[in-house]
Amino acid sequence: RDRDAATFALEPAATACGTPIQVLLNIGAPSDLAGLDPALCDGIGLVRTEFLFHGRGGDDLPGEDEQFEAYRAILAWADGRPVTIRTLDAGGDKPIPGYTLDGEANPFLGLRGVRLSLAREAVFRVQLRALLRAAAHGALKIMIPMVAVPAEMAAVRTLVEEEAASLATAGTPPGRFELGMMVEVPAAALTLDLFAVDFVSIGSNDLVQYLMAAGRDSTAVAALADPLAPAVLRVIETVAREAAARGVPVSLCGDAGGDPAAIPHLLAAGLRVLSMGAAAVPRAKAAIRATTLPGRRP
Ligand code: PEP
Ligand code: MG
Repeated sequence: RDRDAATFALEPAATACGTPIQVLLNIGAPSDLAGLDPALCDGIGLVRTEFLFHGRGGDDLPGEDEQFEAYRAILAWADGRPVTIRTLDAGGDKPIPGYTLDGEANPFLGLRGVRLSLAREAVFRVQLRALLRAAAHGALKIMIPMVAVPAEMAAVRTLVEEEAASLATAGTPPGRFELGMMVEVPAAALTLDLFAVDFVSIGSNDLVQYLMAAGRDSTAVAALADPLAPAVLRVIETVAREAAARGVPVSLCGDAGGDPAAIPHLLAAGLRVLSMGAAAVPRAKAAIRATTLPGRRP
């Protein structure tokens, strides 16, 4: 029976009414993939690259080659499946001593994610070069965290194009890649039509805290930080609809994506791609297979 359950987890997921749902993996470090069969997933939906920077503030930041090797190893594991690697999301709940700002009164509303990357352009360029070099080794999607306004993505795109041109000049043009963003700031969620991106992924952890004004690190207001709150589901529905209307692939990579109780609601909101930690996959696939979409028959 256990063996059957394990086999079941390696098969692609579809709802009870027959709609295929892609299940992607979230990873926080390459070691998360050790011993995993890639058949478990349809790709990797979120690589949190903070692992490269842990304990590395000051003069010890990871170099281009070190980052390139880490990204290439993840692409190799995925064996042709798409891999979404997120650029550094430092700050907020992810401080890097010696790198992020000290003493911000409201770190979640401060210099984090893409804001910090654009403020530390030299460090950001190193990561972008490593990613562009890795793009030759798989189906790479580069994802930018904490985007609020289109000007941020435009600034990122300029840097990406400059680094790609410089690699080409050096005789090592980057492979094909896509450039997209997290949708986790309400301002971006409500103005998707203003952004030029190849794909988006909803970061429900941050989207919930910013919509509900309930910190993700606060147990005292945990009941408010509910990914199934009507306000959150309406925004997710809006993003899914807007993305579909514009032909922009959309996924969700917050913790709700792997929560069996949330999954029927996320699918009803229009999502067809969910990204989650590997441990969540068997129960998530079971929840997907038990779901009948609104207006459909099992
Ligand atoms: C999120 O905010 O939902 C997300 C996936 O990113 P993180 O949890 O790393 O902020
Ligand atoms: Mg986030």
